[in-house]
Amino acid sequence: MALIVQKFGGSSVANAERVRHVAGIIADNYAEGHDIVVVLSAQGDTTDDLIEKAQELNPRPSKREMDVLLSTGEQQSVALMAMALEAMGLPCISLAAWQVGIQSTSVHSDARIKKIDTERIQSELDQHRIVIVTGFQGVDRNGDVTTLGRGGSDTSAVAIAAALHADLCQIYTDVDGVYTADPRVCPRAKKLDVISYDDMLELSSSGAGVLQMRAVEFARKYQVVIHSRSAFSDAEGTYI
Ligand code: ADP
Ligand code: ASP
Ligand code: MG
Repeated sequence: MALIVQKFGGSSVANAERVRHVAGIIADNYAEGHDIVVVLSAQGDTTDDLIEKAQELNPRPSKREMDVLLSTGEQQSVALMAMALEAMGLPCISLAAWQVGIQSTSVHSDARIKKIDTERIQSELDQHRIVIVTGFQGVDRNGDVTTLGRGGSDTSAVAIAAALHADLCQIYTDVDGVYTADPRVCPRAKKLDVISYDDMLELSSSGAGVLQMRAVEFARKYQVVIHSRSAFSDAEGTYI
């Protein structure tokens, strides 16, 4: 039995069919007896759509209010996933960042995780629940919601894995792992079976959106093993 953190990106949970498919992946892992913490991004283009909505009202909204708005995307995802798992008869609970205690700096739209409380997650796992946590969100010292920068759900997942001393952090996305270059831009790019933290950091810092740079930094610092893989196929993926 292992403790596994599984993060699913926006395209992996884009609609009801996709949420149900991902719920099936989670259910299979839970059935194997593992403790499962799920971290979710907002569905599909939700974050971009919310940015557009804000722009309609104010071309320069305050970053605090943008965080209040954008953090709702991830909250929708966790509630919907919990409902899908409930419909399958599985014990689960969704938690937002302030319920977990994902403490961050106050730099709205680009906050950094300072500390993650593990008590609530652990107590839910002890009751054999699948715990579904909002990615991308933090809470600052005033109790205000923050967000962790675009792609920040990757960092949430790795930081939660580090705090819980998880055995593995799986990052599910819409490509089957890390390639030598963006496979959508460079059709001849090769998929890697394994990549070192340093090499991954170089790829992420040069703009490879497949893993947020801070997630890789966290993983290197706390020696979290990341498995980047597809939520759309059973392909082997890449270990970082
Ligand atoms: P998610 O919503 O799952 O977080 P992202 O869109 O943030 O997914 O990241 C996945 C995308 O990253 C892929 O669709 C791919 O186009 C892009 N990408 C960029 N560089 C790479 C790379 N070196 N290897 C794999 N994917 C890459
Ligand atoms: N929803 C956020 C974004 O679109 C965070 C994430 O997906 O990781 O950037
Ligand atoms: Mg991403």
